[in-house]
Amino acid sequence: MNAIEVNKVRKVYNQRDVALDGVSFTIKEGESVVILGHNGSGKSTLFRTLTGFEEPTEGSVTLLGREVDPGKRRHLRETRKKVGMVFQAFGLVDNVSVFQNVLFGALGQVKFAPATYSLFASEALRTRAMECLDRVGLAHLSERRADRLSGGQKQRIAIARMLMQDPEIILADEPIASLDPKAGREVMDLLADIAAERNITLLMILHQIPIAKKYADRFIALKNGEVFADNNVSVIDEDFETALFGSEGPKDPPADEKPGSMEQEAKSL
Ligand code: ADP
Ligand code: MG
Repeated sequence: MNAIEVNKVRKVYNQRDVALDGVSFTIKEGESVVILGHNGSGKSTLFRTLTGFEEPTEGSVTLLGREVDPGKRRHLRETRKKVGMVFQAFGLVDNVSVFQNVLFGALGQVKFAPATYSLFASEALRTRAMECLDRVGLAHLSERRADRLSGGQKQRIAIARMLMQDPEIILADEPIASLDPKAGREVMDLLADIAAERNITLLMILHQIPIAKKYADRFIALKNGEVFADNNVSVIDEDFETALFGSEGPKDPPADEKPGSMEQEAKSL
């Protein structure tokens, strides 16, 4: 089955800014795919469209066999339950514990939000939260406040929180852009291992070519809102990089990038 289907998606902002211009691709269950493209090529818009935070001007998106339609809130919530998201800026709640942050990952599964508060959470939920923390190797930090962690630790907690959803798809938008190289490798290893052991479909936006080549099988390159290439990562060489990015190479996303609207909304789900 296809995990992700993107069918001729066009997205125009303010009736004149074309962010996506007829983008189509399909991703099979269990595939690991990276999205490449310079700043402004439409990567984040594509992600927001995939998750229904943005409505395509034309075309359609299907996740796990369900059409993504921002107009149908309940249907969308059901679809999103199985889609885990990871962001450059982590999206943790700073002034509560690591354990509480992970419990918040179950928000989509409970009727009332307080059922995820550590004070009220069921024994089953608490056990699952500890298992998720254990999977990312940070069970020993469960009582620490989230803002007292390193960047790499924060991203691993964000991954533990996402595992509470038991995701079938993981969407990661620049998951290591705010991390030093060592922490970045740890986070990438963790994401790749988790995806492989659970046959999760992994779609990542990355701008470091070597990392993309190491951790993905396939890449989709966007240029000016169009699919410029869709191929095995092994075909990426210097000539290709120059054709895609120009001679200056890919630019780092701004280090202080504020959480996007998708992240804000994901927090409130
Ligand atoms: P990337 O993530 O690849 O840097 P984006 O998807 O953020 O690219 O942006 C693609 C294009 O759409 C850019 O030209 C950007 O200025 C424009 N754009 C993105 N979001 C909005 C928005 N909310 N309103 C208007 N224009 C936008
Ligand atoms: Mg972006």
